Amino acid sequence: MSKALDAILSQYEKNTDTKSKGNKISNEERLKKYFTEKLQKGVKNATRTFRILPAKDGNSPFQEAYFHEKQVNGKYEKIYCPKLNEGEECPLCEAREALLMDGSKKAKQMASEYSPRKYYVVKGIDRDNEDHGVKFWRYKHKYTGDGVQDKMMPIFKLKGDITDAREGRDIIITTNRNDKGWSVVTSIMADDVKILTSDSTQANEWFNNEETFKDVYSKKPLEYLEIVAKNMSPIWDSELSKYVAEEEKEENETASLEEEINLLQNSNETTTSTNGEMTSTTEVDVTSLDSSETDDLPF
Ligand SMILES: [Zn+2]
Repeated sequence: MSKALDAILSQYEKNTDTKSKGNKISNEERLKKYFTEKLQKGVKNATRTFRILPAKDGNSPFQEAYFHEKQVNGKYEKIYCPKLNEGEECPLCEAREALLMDGSKKAKQMASEYSPRKYYVVKGIDRDNEDHGVKFWRYKHKYTGDGVQDKMMPIFKLKGDITDAREGRDIIITTNRNDKGWSVVTSIMADDVKILTSDSTQANEWFNNEETFKDVYSKKPLEYLEIVAKNMSPIWDSELSKYVAEEEKEENETASLEEEINLLQNSNETTTSTNGEMTSTTEVDVTSLDSSETDDLPF
């Protein structure tokens, strides 16, 4: 095989490989790693059974983690805070501090939108889906004292360390909807004393799981946070291999053929409807489209 051909084929193999498999696992597999107390759409209440795994080092199994809750592309997203989780730079925390420095009432209100929120993350086994393996359960710390952790603690106080593999207990979590339709954990009960598993292979697999919440709640790249901090919409640019602000991208990018045609039609309509009184902006637009068309059209 010639050197060039060899290079071409291995390049192709490499590229197709990253697309189909890469390092990333499928979304379905990924979802198996998460446990949630939240109700699915249309479901009024649910009861789930979960077994908290003990922390390997004998520490508390409840890890504290910080996420910002910020609207991204119209939806609330939990964004990993690099500052509070790792002491690194966080554009969202910086935006918050800048707003607080401003001191005005409006700036203070806006600052609360940038506040990092405290969460607990605990590893365990979803008794209804044991074949999924170790799952991560993340829920918010409630300063009002009526959160998941507040309902969990009495069990530890009354029953001891329920995470013990041999003499621990499962917990039974009941979720209902409140008057706003949101999922709310209404009770957490301790089940009877029960061994985690009698299958030693399974026990080994569960106990030796080294993943932490940092592996499963992905940390977004810095530029993503910078875009969100500016209240813009991050979108993935595969050519640049990074996130860019949609708002800024549109200005820089040449419109697609379809968009160009639409734009052209729109400006023609404008021309007719305004009876030849074309504004200078329309004129400029038409000129630039005409010239780019000759360059870009594939036929
Ligand atoms: Zn932060």
